Amino acid sequence: MSFKATVLTLYPEMFPGPLGISLAGRALEAGAWSMEAVQIRDFAADKHRTVDDTPAGGGAGMVLKVDVLAAAIDHARGLNPDAPVLTMTPRGRPLDQARVRELASGPGAIVLCGRFEGFDERIFEGRDVEEVSVGDIVLSGGEPAALMLLDACIRLLPGVMGAASSGVEESFENGLLEYPHFTRPAIWEGRTIPEVLRSGDHAKIAAWRKRRSEDDTRLRRPDLWERHGDVRGQPASGARHDDEGTGT
Ligand code: SAH
Repeated sequence: MSFKATVLTLYPEMFPGPLGISLAGRALEAGAWSMEAVQIRDFAADKHRTVDDTPAGGGAGMVLKVDVLAAAIDHARGLNPDAPVLTMTPRGRPLDQARVRELASGPGAIVLCGRFEGFDERIFEGRDVEEVSVGDIVLSGGEPAALMLLDACIRLLPGVMGAASSGVEESFENGLLEYPHFTRPAIWEGRTIPEVLRSGDHAKIAAWRKRRSEDDTRLRRPDLWERHGDVRGQPASGARHDDEGTGT
């Protein structure tokens, strides 16, 4: 059984969108995953197919109706019974690679995309949904967030990325940012590739990469470094990249 994505959206034409090309697109064609975009409007009860209404208490914008959302979720659960329902919202739990891995190893995901001001709050009480944020930013709709989440899951599915997909050294997989990469030419605008990477000494290369990964995490993402407590206490001098060869 392959990963199944069911997206609830007012804009089903946005899917698979970018997930229909390149690695994800080939994997879709090959059946490594499947997807269905469900039009939320199909679950509107009135003849005008109304999905939103003005906010109780007044104010700007429109709110997605709870009865319509519930009917759409219930329908999606029928299509994809074992998958968790993920609701895209800026106040949700920030998506991270650990959650992406869990999702990718499961049966799939039902992804609910908001629009306008968002959802009637009662949907979070009335249905078992997980609120997910893709960052401290406000999008105009949940669709780009859903594409992001699904892209991150799909690249981890067996066979999608081939040998490159083991991913154990990639950013966030071990709680650290990845080390930097270089490729030919050896000299570009006077900037060289670090000598150690051309040494052929695999132990030295691995040590350099580990140190750069730790240094970069500490300098760029102190929050990640804080959580990565077990490698703390490394010498602070590691923050200087003397052997990088790219600076002046
Ligand atoms: N009024 C809301 C923003 C609504 S944006 C607020 O202030 O929090 C409209 C829709 O875009 C949301 O319902 C949600 O589905 C989606 N969205 C916007 N930003 C998002 C984010 N950072 N992560 C996930 N979904 C987001």
